[in-house]
Amino acid sequence: MPTTGVKEFNSILKDTRNVDVLFGYAYPSTYRAGMTGLATHLFYSILNGREDTSCERYFRYDVASPCHSVESGRPLKENHIVGFSLTYEEDILNLIQMLDSGNIPIMAQQRSETDPIVLVGGPVPSANPEPYADFVDAFVIGEGDLVISQIVNAAVSLSSRSEIIKGLAEIEGVYVPAAGQDEVRRLRISQLDSLYHPTAQIIPDVPEGSTLEPVFGRSLLVETTRGCSYSCKFCLVGHICRPKRSRSLERLKDIISRGVQETPVHKIALIASSLGDIDGLGDLASWIVDRGLGLSVPSLRADSVSGELLSILVRGAQKTFTIAPETGSQKLRRSAGKTLSDDEIENTVQMAAKAGFAALKLYFMIGLPGETDEDVKTIVTMVERLVKMSGMRVTVSLNPFIPKAHTDWEREAQPSIENMRAKIRIVERGLRSTKRVEFEALDPRSARIQAALSIGDRSLGKAILLAARYGGYGGWRRAERESGVPILSMASDTRRIDGHLPWDFIKNQ
Ligand code: SF4
Repeated sequence: MPTTGVKEFNSILKDTRNVDVLFGYAYPSTYRAGMTGLATHLFYSILNGREDTSCERYFRYDVASPCHSVESGRPLKENHIVGFSLTYEEDILNLIQMLDSGNIPIMAQQRSETDPIVLVGGPVPSANPEPYADFVDAFVIGEGDLVISQIVNAAVSLSSRSEIIKGLAEIEGVYVPAAGQDEVRRLRISQLDSLYHPTAQIIPDVPEGSTLEPVFGRSLLVETTRGCSYSCKFCLVGHICRPKRSRSLERLKDIISRGVQETPVHKIALIASSLGDIDGLGDLASWIVDRGLGLSVPSLRADSVSGELLSILVRGAQKTFTIAPETGSQKLRRSAGKTLSDDEIENTVQMAAKAGFAALKLYFMIGLPGETDEDVKTIVTMVERLVKMSGMRVTVSLNPFIPKAHTDWEREAQPSIENMRAKIRIVERGLRSTKRVEFEALDPRSARIQAALSIGDRSLGKAILLAARYGGYGGWRRAERESGVPILSMASDTRRIDGHLPWDFIKNQ
């Protein structure tokens, strides 16, 4: 029985006397969030597919202990390599707390030959690893499934920890902060069809609605696409995962056919940053639903869906239709690089209502460069119009603009916390009397911290260390005061408009 106390299908427990490499796959957040991501299943399956490796999982929350594996309670420190997947900037605090609780020195420089190698990958460090460099022995920059086997091979063939770390710096796409590399190429597979995809995925045997249930429920995760063929100026995926690559329909059908035999599920969750981009999405969706399987899809581009596709999604028991207009102002939307028109958004929402969707989720941003208060008010008018014409329940999710490394808007300033709060208030008050609307917004303080971690340099390390010790927003403020690093104001500093950026050494392939 795993240490969560919950039975899992397809988890793997190896006799570690018969393996050379102990790998700890660590997700620095909740079990639910970690098990929702395809990366957990992908790396777990690749690593345990090797006879010489045992991979066990670690999570920060909702498990018996953050430093003991789910499978066997193996202490984090006993692994030869601990590989963290960092999806959200602020999870760096959880990562540090996991190391600390596992008795692994937090600072890379203080680790000895008997400590695990701390490896970090994911979209956050793939854009800008520098704020985290003090804590990490090696980063994987880009698509890690391309090099994970080479990394393990290095651990098998080289004898000492320091030799292995030196060897990792020789692998393309691996960044070793201590090695002083001038340039690191971001890893990108050229085509997906020949790439491994896990079909036996771990499923927790929990009741529907349990806090341990992955976000898409009891589903087989199927990655259709990487990247996106658009390039909205604020969007990280649109810039660091270029170009868009898709699996063929034949390959996807093969993955699903095998997946439902090897994983006890009745639902398929398609994974993509821009799903509407794939050719034949309607064919794939109807093929899935015709087999009696449920279907879940992420946010779709409003100009990529047809009435027929929407009806198939409803047949597949998808309940909420999700799109991201980003702003109510067509002019501002276009200046952000998102070419969707107001008409396209309205037509799509009407089609979704007609197809039978009961709920609509809309993602908007505030604080975009060039935005006025009048632009912010257009969010309210757009939502009111969409509620009236569709009759659906609507959730409005509002996120402050966060400048991200490698995007067209990497040098843009983020508005002050007060300004972001005022803009959120405009939308919240404007929608207060609109029936059937729920409203959620990211705290501007969190947006400020995320922005600093996105665009900062190695000097952030000392503030991160203190913030991990103190915890919460108050902890970040105290860390800012004590370290002298202006975390909460860094993203409004326009001095970075010219000159060198901390992530300039990371190049696209
Ligand atoms: S916002 Fe959506 S459409 Fe635009 S680049 Fe990002 S993933 Fe693509």
